[in-house]
Amino acid sequence: MSLRFALMIVPVDADDEREDYASTFTVVDASAPALSVGELSTQRGDGVFESIGVIDGHAQELEPHVRRLEHSALLCDLPAPNHEQWRQAIAVAASACPPGEAVIKLILSRGVEHGPTPTAWVTAAVAADFTSVRKDGVRVVTLDRGYDLGAGERAPWLLLGAKTLSYAVNMAALREAKRRGADDAIFVTNDGFVLEAPTASLILRSGDRFVTTAPSAGILHGTTQLSVYEHLSAQGFSCDYAGIRTSELLAADAAWLVSSVRLAAPITAVDGSPIPVDPQLTADINRYLLSPR
Ligand code: PLP
Repeated sequence: MSLRFALMIVPVDADDEREDYASTFTVVDASAPALSVGELSTQRGDGVFESIGVIDGHAQELEPHVRRLEHSALLCDLPAPNHEQWRQAIAVAASACPPGEAVIKLILSRGVEHGPTPTAWVTAAVAADFTSVRKDGVRVVTLDRGYDLGAGERAPWLLLGAKTLSYAVNMAALREAKRRGADDAIFVTNDGFVLEAPTASLILRSGDRFVTTAPSAGILHGTTQLSVYEHLSAQGFSCDYAGIRTSELLAADAAWLVSSVRLAAPITAVDGSPIPVDPQLTADINRYLLSPR
């Protein structure tokens, strides 16, 4: 995924009310160095981000992504983003995306050590081709996250509900999944509940009921999961949040990993045991996710 476009942003206060933020944007060469070596994003992973799916130049679920950027920033004691400034930055990046699928990233870091302001930037790149994984699915392994279901509420300083730049653990989990012969991982608590994948939310189906892990468990509240729930609710399905035992995943009628760029990937096996796949509903969900939202 090579970067096509990068825009540096001088972040303004959340209550700034100007109409046009173009003067706070600088387009930079996406292949050239642009950050200071003192950046806390690179030194400590101290910042937050969003990955937005783009389809034919349309940024999907723009408002939920901007709201979640704010939620993550507040959990990290970063200044609240100015929504309109970020909307305009996303629009500039989206206009640089070619037809087809692309990804826009928003990054807000604590800035340079002892520096006066956060650092903010937006990038755009052509997305990888996920056509086959949306159809053929993923084999997952369950990996112990090392804490219990109450950790998210008991220890907010772990930032479990924030989309922070500290993704080394998530990437290590994906490597461990590959070592175990799978495609992806699902984190589980040490008291037997499923959480989420390293870069996706988990949705299970049992009959006409869909269920996903409650965000209070210390997971990221997925914008794609929210969108899929809207789609399924409109068809009359019941869509719930709950604590989900690992045994429920193994007994599910179908299960998916959903995220903004890969969209819905059906789970075909858990820890080497096959689980049922619903090709028709999977295709319907992905058709919906590929439509302008
Ligand atoms: N959970 C984690 C840990 C993620 O990193 C992501 C996305 O990257 C998701 C869930 C899914 O979020 P979204 O649907 O907003 O992409």
